[in-house]
Amino acid sequence: MEEKLTDRMCPNCNDYLFYMEYNTEIPYEGNITIKTYLCKSCYYKDVSIKRHDMEKPKILKLKIRNKNDLKTIIYRSPDASIKIPEIDAEISPGIASRGYITTVEGLITGIKEKLSLMDSHDAIYIEERINNILKKNSEEITLIIDDSSGKSKINSGRAEVIEK
Ligand SMILES: [Zn+2]
Repeated sequence: MEEKLTDRMCPNCNDYLFYMEYNTEIPYEGNITIKTYLCKSCYYKDVSIKRHDMEKPKILKLKIRNKNDLKTIIYRSPDASIKIPEIDAEISPGIASRGYITTVEGLITGIKEKLSLMDSHDAIYIEERINNILKKNSEEITLIIDDSSGKSKINSGRAEVIEK
């Protein structure tokens, strides 16, 4: 890997940063370039990832009807927003958003944990509904992934794929 000295300064110690690039291939995303700025004085690192194999924008949908559906594996790309309208949940892609692999259950549990930090009556009500969905399949919910990069996946034959 070739390192180049840049004229960018380290935000920690004000020394000059080195820059390096690394190309690799990862599951779901394909070819990516990892770009790193490194300070050799204090080891500050700024890493960003550039993705090359973008697909057509897509919306993926899956009705979550039972315990089995909760175990469905999903990949959420850094560009994807996720909605579950029944419980009023929406996860937007953040500025430094990263892709991740999880299960529907893991995703819903994450939403629940965020709700538990909020101190509102609605949050408590929705938290309880989520508990009932996870434990007793008390209601059907719809997972909607809206992805401008088209890279997200729902690992289920029942998933609906709509090209935008
Ligand atoms: Zn430094």
